Amino acid sequence: MSVHPDVLVIGAGVIGLTTAVTLAEAGYRVRIHTAEAHDQTTSAVAGALWGPWLVEPRERVLPWAETTLDVLRNLAATPHSGVRLASGIEISNASHGPPDWAHLLPDRRPLSPHELPPGYAHGHRYTAPLIDMPTYLAHLADRLARAGGTVEHHRIDSIEQVTRLADCVVNCSYSQCPRPGSDEGHAVRPGAWTRLSYHRLSYHRRSTSATSAGLVSGCSVESLGSIPAASPPCVL
Ligand SMILES: Cc1cc2nc3c(=O)[nH]c(=O)nc-3n(C[C@H](O)[C@H](O)[C@H](O)COP(=O)(O)OP(=O)(O)OC[C@H]3O[C@@H](n4cnc5c(N)ncnc54)[C@H](O)[C@@H]3O)c2cc1C
Repeated sequence: MSVHPDVLVIGAGVIGLTTAVTLAEAGYRVRIHTAEAHDQTTSAVAGALWGPWLVEPRERVLPWAETTLDVLRNLAATPHSGVRLASGIEISNASHGPPDWAHLLPDRRPLSPHELPPGYAHGHRYTAPLIDMPTYLAHLADRLARAGGTVEHHRIDSIEQVTRLADCVVNCSYSQCPRPGSDEGHAVRPGAWTRLSYHRLSYHRRSTSATSAGLVSGCSVESLGSIPAASPPCVL
């Protein structure tokens, strides 16, 4: 018999899986409903380098980024997680001031002129987590299964369709799903990946996390604190 979950997570990309894993490992009964398997998501084809770019609001993003950096540094020591620490260079033709996360990477330093590739005027070298996403998503899916979480393959057409299924629904479908009570209804409307940064901004403000592999730990921790003990269903 299927157990009534405490939390229903929509989506099995890096945001959905991380949210589900964190909640399941904290003792919640978690189920994911996803239209695609994790290896078919946008997350599976991401770069994926840690870095809090193009994400707001900064006063919340930076603590999430720091937490996630710690999590990813620890995962780099975990066999088969797909996470490793990579040293590389970031180069450009324009001079930029230091990003507001520069202090989180202690070895970040400017490149000297002879280190710059031809045609580039500015650059920095630093070490940051770099993630093989198919491996990392499989690692998260495995952790979810070991923590008792389940995954079902369904496309959700509206939030009303699922609010009765759990006390809390966390929308990690990378969508513009309005909250209950909104005049726009509760349709789940995934966006094209080219509009990804924009959508991620509205997602962060609404509920939880930051970008992709970058800041997902903060997401789940915040969601955890928001789960009500009883109905009405909450939609994050
Ligand atoms: C080429 C490329 C490189 C990138 N490089 C980086 C990088 O270096 N660093 C970085 O931080 N980010 C990077 N990104 C961005 C990163 O990939 C995304 O921010 C991240 O994958 C978003 O994860 P997500 O879980 O929110 O969405 P997705 O991975 O898109 O997952 C969405 C999930 O929701 C499900 N879903 C959608 N609609 C429904 C529905 N109606 N019903 C049920 N399920 C639904 C989908 O099936 C899927 O499981 C890159 C992206 C690309 C494309």
